[in-house]
Amino acid sequence: MLGRDEWAINILMPYIQVEKNNYILDGFPRTLKQARLLDLENNKLKCKIDLAIKIEVSKETLMDRVSKRIVCKSCGIAYNADDFDENCEKICPECDSLLIKEKR
Ligand SMILES: [Zn+2]
Repeated sequence: MLGRDEWAINILMPYIQVEKNNYILDGFPRTLKQARLLDLENNKLKCKIDLAIKIEVSKETLMDRVSKRIVCKSCGIAYNADDFDENCEKICPECDSLLIKEKR
């Protein structure tokens, strides 16, 4: 059975194999082990990471974003509750499905 890190890289690699040097990863790798696995797989493809951007955000801001995150039950797109009228039912602009608070 694969661990979470191996599982994640196995999901990702088919896309990287197609895109080779023309992709942007957002939120991956999240662990040192994932980074090492990504390096191993990139080496096999003779690809390398050109640039990594680290965005530092205060804990306060992160907690605010997480607490206001709502997700479409249907298409999975995430939104910030502040972008919707608080007195109306929150509906996904993409597919008209109900938006719900994400459970973490
Ligand atoms: Zn949707």
